[in-house]
Amino acid sequence: MKAIVIGSGIMGLATARVLGLRGFETLVLERNPKAQGSSIRNFGMVWPIGQPEGQALEWALKSRSIWLELASQGAIWHQKSGSIMALRNAYELALAHNFLDVERGRTLSMLHAEEAVARAPYLKRQGLLGALYSDSEIIVEARQAIRVIPDLLSATSNIRFRFNTAVKETATGYVITARGEKIDADIIVICNGYDFATLYPAFFDTAPMTLSVLQMLRSEALSLETPPICAGLTFLHYPSYQKLENLEEYKVFCGQRYPKLIEYGIHLLVSQNEQRCLTIGDSHVYGRDIDPFREEEIDSAILDYFHEVFDIPELKIKQRWNGTYAKLTNGFNHLLQEVDKGVWVFNGPGGAGMTLSFGMADDLIAKL
Ligand SMILES: Cc1cc2nc3c(=O)[nH]c(=O)nc-3n(C[C@H](O)[C@H](O)[C@H](O)COP(=O)(O)OP(=O)(O)OC[C@H]3O[C@@H](n4cnc5c(N)ncnc54)[C@H](O)[C@@H]3O)c2cc1C
Repeated sequence: MKAIVIGSGIMGLATARVLGLRGFETLVLERNPKAQGSSIRNFGMVWPIGQPEGQALEWALKSRSIWLELASQGAIWHQKSGSIMALRNAYELALAHNFLDVERGRTLSMLHAEEAVARAPYLKRQGLLGALYSDSEIIVEARQAIRVIPDLLSATSNIRFRFNTAVKETATGYVITARGEKIDADIIVICNGYDFATLYPAFFDTAPMTLSVLQMLRSEALSLETPPICAGLTFLHYPSYQKLENLEEYKVFCGQRYPKLIEYGIHLLVSQNEQRCLTIGDSHVYGRDIDPFREEEIDSAILDYFHEVFDIPELKIKQRWNGTYAKLTNGFNHLLQEVDKGVWVFNGPGGAGMTLSFGMADDLIAKL
């Protein structure tokens, strides 16, 4: 049996991996010379703490184990770092205690400010009330990992990759590339990320999906190592925190204290790569009509908040980029839909594709 996967972002890689394991002769077609979409523009955070208990957390933990299995083959830089959330006011401290109380299934602990700074030496001690530590997060360097996984998969299984190959049409049993080549397959999975215009545009016109554009920054290398860090505003962004008591009061507080951060959907996530550079973000502007222009005001707002949480006055930024991801508007964390017999769209993990894709594909694609 033959399968074609369209797109070599994390969703395409996760899908190809499962189809390959199930014995399909699998061909991945990617329009660019190497993946260039959401999956190489992110923090590389495999972040189970952001997923609510139940299926999403199970998928996140399964993904984590698949990431570690792939990384054990040697070529993927990664850190089993856990994560630290810096808590800088009474609302954040109370929310963290509440999370600790209700989320019994996770390995979490509260750190005193001194302990937090001992583990994360760049945290600003002044004003730090404590930190929430979770042991389940891992960090990869997305731009490296996503481009190495095709080599790993094709070396160890019946999966082949063809880059520089845009697909312009698909229907039951075949795809047609932009060069006019027709390739047959028994099953086709479209993992097209945020390109809603090329394949099945009418389907995407009415799909409950929007786009989110994020501004990101990367620093010059630092001298010390740091685990990945987030700060209080992250409580407003991940589904795992949405049922916490006092979240509404915290929202009101943030609206008054940080109006620009709220306006631009900013929360602070910081990860460090092998060269000890920090990836810093992010903001969220939603809508299908993406504006290509970066706003300096957004970068400044991100960095102002960064300097509130971190003590690195000498920080130098060496890269800035925009990332975009497709997000479902119906609250779901994926869309898997048959658009022609044997042709499936698999999309929509929003801001959690690195965290969810492997586990999600392992469960859902295996059932197709
Ligand atoms: C700035 C940013 C930070 C993020 N941080 C994190 C994080 O730290 N942790 C986390 O879990 N998630 C994070 N996310 C979310 C995560 O990156 C996305 O959920 C995920 O990358 C989506 O993967 P994808 O494969 O669907 O899309 P993409 O990575 O965009 O891949 C789609 C691929 O399909 C190809 N393609 C499309 N159409 C065609 C066609 N017709 N023919 C051939 N090829 C085609 C594209 O070229 C592209 O390579 C972040 C996202 C962004 C933007």
